Amino acid sequence: RAKQAGKGRAALFDESMHAEVLERLTLERDLRRALEEGELTLHYQPIMDLTALRCVGFEALLRWTHPQRGPVPPARFIPLAEASGLIVPLGRWVLDEAGRQLTAWRAAHPGLSELTVSVNVSGRQLHRHAQPEEHFLNRPPAPGIELEVTESTLLDAPEAQAVLRALADRGVCLSLDDFGTGYASLSALERHPITTLKIDRSFVAALPDGVRQRGIVQGVAMLAQHLRLRVIAEGIETPEQLRTLRDLGCTHGQGFLFARPLPAGAALAFALNHVGKAGGG
Ligand code: C2E
Ligand code: MG
Ligand code: MG
Ligand code: MG
Repeated sequence: RAKQAGKGRAALFDESMHAEVLERLTLERDLRRALEEGELTLHYQPIMDLTALRCVGFEALLRWTHPQRGPVPPARFIPLAEASGLIVPLGRWVLDEAGRQLTAWRAAHPGLSELTVSVNVSGRQLHRHAQPEEHFLNRPPAPGIELEVTESTLLDAPEAQAVLRALADRGVCLSLDDFGTGYASLSALERHPITTLKIDRSFVAALPDGVRQRGIVQGVAMLAQHLRLRVIAEGIETPEQLRTLRDLGCTHGQGFLFARPLPAGAALAFALNHVGKAGGG
């Protein structure tokens, strides 16, 4: 009987694994089509100067509206795209689309000539075996486009160092995303031409009460100051968090307190309302 029950469990397990595999394959097939069918869009979340409350730029975030399922979160489809290699053409699309949008905004609005847009980049995009015409170095990002990588992206892509160095030489700014949650923070700072540290949302979420997180945030802000890096706090949701971050020496931030990621039209309106030299907001 014990053997029977064991077999039953194994069969059940097999079945749910099978369902998960099928689900992934279906989503992956749909994602391939999504690119061609125009189901992908970019939303733009404002990045603020925390003192002047001015909008200095945006982070571009990929959105997929599936014709039957509706919105699929990036946490669901980005890993699939990375595993299948689809992230390479997909990431190329994101870079081109963000570049096109920023160039149009800058051209149409003299007040936005300094505006930047940061694009998230996966490790696979930095590999040399990517299609030559899709590769970064053969078609560098538009002026004002910045790149965001995580520590694991850098570990994923042994060739990242040369590629990132070449991009930095062309003036492309590079953010280290989700800083403090990976393995190799400090050596990544030594090895790569990082210009910005993004403090992970998990630290910000614990403010203002979390004593350790306060210490971590303050330490990162000081590190950034000493290394002449910009620092951006992610996931600011409350006025108390904003006040605490300012007190701890954090100069820039983004989060629902200011705005959610917005469709292009709303993002432009936000930027125009928050560029004022004298305080803006
Ligand atoms: P990320 O780069 O760390 O992006 C920040 C995430 O935090 C976004 O989630 C954003 O919507 C969310 N967020 C911003 N402010 C707040 C806040 O105040 N509270 C809370 N709870 N969340 C906030 P999203 O858009 O779901 O993206 C998740 C992740 O997916 C991103 O994390 C990034 O790693 C990845 N991703 C998104 N777009 C792309 C892309 O075009 N290419 C690549 N390779 N990855 C992408
Ligand atoms: Mg990011
Ligand atoms: Mg992040
Ligand atoms: Mg993140």
